[in-house]
Amino acid sequence: MKEIILIKNGELTLKGLNRNSFEDILIKNMKKRLNDLGKFEFSKSQSTIMVDPVDEGIDLDDAADRLSKVFGIAALSRACVCEKDFESIKATAAEYLEEQLEDAKTFKVNAKRSDKKFPMKSPEICRELGGHILSKFHNLSVDVHKPDITVTVEVRDKYAFVRGNNIKGAGGMPTGTSGRAGILISGGIDSPVAAYMMAKRGIELCAIHFASPPYTSELAEMKVLELLKRVAKYSGVITTYVVPFTKIQEAIRDLCPEEYFTIIMRRIMMMISEKMAVSQNCSALITGESVGQVASQTMYALACTDCAVNIPVFRPCIGMDKEEIIAISRKIDTFETSIQPYEDCCTVFTPKHPKTRPQIDDVVEAENKIENLNELIEDAIHNAKKVIIR
Ligand code: ATP
Ligand code: MG
Repeated sequence: MKEIILIKNGELTLKGLNRNSFEDILIKNMKKRLNDLGKFEFSKSQSTIMVDPVDEGIDLDDAADRLSKVFGIAALSRACVCEKDFESIKATAAEYLEEQLEDAKTFKVNAKRSDKKFPMKSPEICRELGGHILSKFHNLSVDVHKPDITVTVEVRDKYAFVRGNNIKGAGGMPTGTSGRAGILISGGIDSPVAAYMMAKRGIELCAIHFASPPYTSELAEMKVLELLKRVAKYSGVITTYVVPFTKIQEAIRDLCPEEYFTIIMRRIMMMISEKMAVSQNCSALITGESVGQVASQTMYALACTDCAVNIPVFRPCIGMDKEEIIAISRKIDTFETSIQPYEDCCTVFTPKHPKTRPQIDDVVEAENKIENLNELIEDAIHNAKKVIIR
């Protein structure tokens, strides 16, 4: 039996003239994701993309799992290819879907006939195939509203396809159709979720992580790279920069008033990230901030952070409760890694009484105490370490 994977585009279908180029990008993304599994052929036909394994022995479970994490796909299904005659459609359905039909209580048949020369019309295919399935599987009854399994037969120009239930796709838009942005990634729960959410809207990610050895450890850095690997299962490749931040944090500690430590640190993170992101063709920054979560995330503190840069800052978690963010982090499988207890540079030199309503003029005055800030920034960028995450 020959098996293929059928892909239903998501929002792509809405995009009119752009549709073709969106589909091409989606196919390119799928190819990259399946690259090391073997050779596949991709073809477009009537709002479906067919993914056809060419090599023998390709692991289709793995392929389907990977494709279920590619943005721009609303649903996918594995289908069996069969000859275009009703006897072989019947035999294929009973054999290919045997396990699923045995496990189900209710089913229905759905037929689509794009080849209008096929001698049976859709209602007739449904009736006859339904009867055949009922006669072979005595555990089943028909339920046209909420069946456990929908058996779909598609009669196309060359072959017929038989398939069971759809697998839900990752939704969103194909990565790369919305440009590039730089994610400020920490080892926490929120920023990997923020990365995932913006990648879902078609944004290609580049990541920036600030490390402050010896205050932060090598293990903390490895944790961040592990988080990015998990995000990359959805977003595709993430070019990552690990920026040495120790000297800057020590300068803040030594020269600035304590109540502004965190806000100044956040502003400098933004300034460095903006420079690095722009040089990587990024047009925006992304953070995992959420209003009110900590002192540096009050609306007033965020305003002071925002005006440190001249490109938009996207904060997809801004209006979410921690529980809602955690639910997404569990879904994308970053939660267990995020809660490993390693220190982040945000947790070293934290002030006892941070300003929750900082005034920008006061912040800038405090920040200006670091006279060689530009030099420190250039130095940090110069010494950043590049890691490609895939
Ligand atoms: P997270 O769970 O994402 O760590 P958080 O609630 O712990 O977020 P903060 O530690 O205040 O919040 O950080 C706020 C945001 O700043 C993070 O979501 C992230 O985007 C960015 N950030 C924090 N620490 C770093 C770091 N070491 N490197 C890069 N970005 C960071
Ligand atoms: Mg954090």
